Amino acid sequence: MQPTPIRVMKFGGTSVAGAGRLRAVADLVAAARATHRVCVVASAMAGVTNLLVNEGRVPDPAAADRLMDNFRDLHAEVVEALAEELGASAAPLRGELGELEALGRRLLHGMALLEEGPPAVRAQVSSLGERASCAILVGLLAARGLEPRYLDPVAHVRVEGDPLQARPCLAETERSFAAVKAGAGDLWVLPGFFGGDAQGRILSLGRGGSDHSAALAAAALDADLLEIWTDVDGLYSADPRLVPEAFPLPEASFEEAMELSFFGAKVLHPKTIPPVRERGIPVRVCSAFDPAHPGTVIREAVPPPPSGVRGISFLRGLSVVNLTGPGMLGVPGIAGRVFGALARKGISVVLITQSSSELSICFAVRQADGPGAVAAIQEAFPAELAAGFLDPLDLRDGLSVLSIVGDGMRTRAGVAGTFFDALAEVGCNVVAIAQGASERIISAVVEEAEGARAVPHIHRRFFQTQVVVDVHLLGAGNVGGSLLGQIHRQQAKLAAQGLDLRVATVATSRRMRLDAKGLDLDHWREDLAQGEAMDLDRLMAVVRNGPPALSVLVDCTTSGELASRYPDLFDAGFHVVTANKKANSASQAFYRELRERSSKKGLRFLYEANVGAGLPIIDTVKNLVLTGDRVLRAEGILSGSMSYILGLLGDGVPLSEAVRSAKESGFTEPDPRDDLSGMDVARKLLILARELGMELELSDVVVEGLLPPEFDASGDIPAFLARLPELDGPFRERLTALKAEGKTLRYVGSLSDSGCRVGLLPVDGEHPFMAIKGGENALALLTERYQPHPMVIRGYGAGAEVTAAGVLADVLRLVPPGARPSRRRPA
Ligand code: ADP
Ligand code: ASP
Ligand code: MG
Repeated sequence: MQPTPIRVMKFGGTSVAGAGRLRAVADLVAAARATHRVCVVASAMAGVTNLLVNEGRVPDPAAADRLMDNFRDLHAEVVEALAEELGASAAPLRGELGELEALGRRLLHGMALLEEGPPAVRAQVSSLGERASCAILVGLLAARGLEPRYLDPVAHVRVEGDPLQARPCLAETERSFAAVKAGAGDLWVLPGFFGGDAQGRILSLGRGGSDHSAALAAAALDADLLEIWTDVDGLYSADPRLVPEAFPLPEASFEEAMELSFFGAKVLHPKTIPPVRERGIPVRVCSAFDPAHPGTVIREAVPPPPSGVRGISFLRGLSVVNLTGPGMLGVPGIAGRVFGALARKGISVVLITQSSSELSICFAVRQADGPGAVAAIQEAFPAELAAGFLDPLDLRDGLSVLSIVGDGMRTRAGVAGTFFDALAEVGCNVVAIAQGASERIISAVVEEAEGARAVPHIHRRFFQTQVVVDVHLLGAGNVGGSLLGQIHRQQAKLAAQGLDLRVATVATSRRMRLDAKGLDLDHWREDLAQGEAMDLDRLMAVVRNGPPALSVLVDCTTSGELASRYPDLFDAGFHVVTANKKANSASQAFYRELRERSSKKGLRFLYEANVGAGLPIIDTVKNLVLTGDRVLRAEGILSGSMSYILGLLGDGVPLSEAVRSAKESGFTEPDPRDDLSGMDVARKLLILARELGMELELSDVVVEGLLPPEFDASGDIPAFLARLPELDGPFRERLTALKAEGKTLRYVGSLSDSGCRVGLLPVDGEHPFMAIKGGENALALLTERYQPHPMVIRGYGAGAEVTAAGVLADVLRLVPPGARPSRRRPA
């Protein structure tokens, strides 16, 4: 006959907290007993260990009493609620709990008296929670007629070393469990979290260590399955508290689970897997709150996930130490000495990277170990540091490790690329990178706050077909309104290509309307009318504190004040797409600052619509420069209104009528003088010049307005328009004379090495600008490659629809739809 198989069932703190939870545990154990011998390993009731550990502080006598009163009441309440079921065993159970309480009081009072908490004493105090919960559990199981036997961890789980972070001794532990197994019992209850040394003293396995206890018991008993019963439906694709869309993994390999738990998946203590993996014992992580859910099975040889990535983990509270210096180049043994020194101090290293030039070693440790790590290295390299062969050590706090884990990553190209792209998309700056030799994990050291925001986005990139981009639109006038219309019309098509483009904010200078889930674009005007007062700081705060997302601020205003805030927006994690020319045409220093601030955060700053609206001007100029071409001369008709007005003048229309017609057709600013002054063209020309690498200010652009300086252009708009016919004659004369030579006038911005100029230019039939009128724009680029005939970019360069299209194209550059491989959430 086959021996009855053994199952280890570990119940975490929330699974045993309260009478109702304990009854549920008893039900689960009773069901398992039908087919198995069962070893139950239990944690302290949720919150009890925290209470006892007291954040590592030594209590005064009064605090010690309060603490133990609390301990007593918590357990007494549960026993009271179970009294009826416990029957006769309630009284002895109360006695046992009273003894634990008395022991706790003695130990804590001793610590209070000494004003010190020796680790050995702390280990004893911290064990009381598990001893109490297990005492109750034994009583309850016994009352159900299941005949449980209490296993004292001091006798059965042999440990040694640090009393608060002990190491197990496997051989001795196996020997004592062999005797248990050979005995007659079929149900055992083992408190988790601690064991005993050869002298019979209690040593703790460290916080969260009950999982480790259970794994040791499972290995020692050669169980057929280790069950980790907890408060979530398994091992998730990411921490469910951080990523609402995370899902329980049906399966994971031992190695994947090990990496995920080591790098932050709290659901499994990092030391849980090795003992069971050694014996090929599968682990099931499942919910005591939802026992019907299959949970996650962790075992050998699990087929790799389709995307290559099984899960994402995030480990907080780290420091990074950087070791650099000229003395490190090619000197053998430095790394050995560094890590030897750390090991001697008992500091464990979470992650290491070394640059290939060997000029630096960088490693991460828990924040609490940071100063100790620095001291250890200073002691190990006194001479090298004194002589300057090593630079002073650099310690950086507040960091975390964000990792992607999966057995299939090594056979798939592009996983790392997607990972780092996704980090950049949310402006998460990478401090250091490590890839395990197994190619099962890629880790990035990042700032904790940035990392916490990046995890959900990375999760979407790997596990969901939809990538979410949140648009925060400022400026809801002609261009902004057209943009919303275009987004509305394109949303479904973009979604089909994997891009969920949402408008999370619409704002004007007075009002803003926010909705993290995305506004309904059928009635954004009504929603905006009921919005709150516009406040950019509040908008930034709401987005920062809201669900993490890829956020882009779209500026369709003409506000200089808003433009001056772009650096703050980059700091707050926004990409910026702008049709507003004010930022790029402000001072050269600000122009540089914008690029520095955005690139420091890995965020994009895009402004195609600054020049020529939707025409591909900025992008083309950038590419010419990047591919090594040199622009010798650029000339452009860069204003739709000037194009329209000059076109009419050429056809014989008087100036005053041409201006009036342009204004009525919506080609000009509300006050046409803003166009006629030429300043708008000057700003565009300045932006182009800077794009070509020239350093200059707006005041360096020589601007000749359309109206002669002696003309009185003052007064309100009607007064100005009424005076305009005075210029009809002079313009007609000038154009008639030109026409006789086969020429006409165009309003042109031109730049070359000799500078930038905006003004009227006579052109003849040969000139590409002769045909540019009616609102069209054109830019002619004479370059080393494009000559003697220049490259000409031509088309409508003004108007709400084409400008909005230019803006939308920039937004779509952030995450091109259809660019990511489709990855579906497993069924
Ligand atoms: P227990 O008390 O049962 O040992 P823990 O609090 O130690 O439970 O671990 C369970 C918690 O771990 C979950 O409630 C969840 O918030 C957190 N957690 C972090 N990462 C993950 C993950 N990848 N999968 C599941 N849970 C996770
Ligand atoms: N009760 C201990 C703790 O809270 C051990 C555990 O629950 O795993 O750390
Ligand atoms: Mg736990």
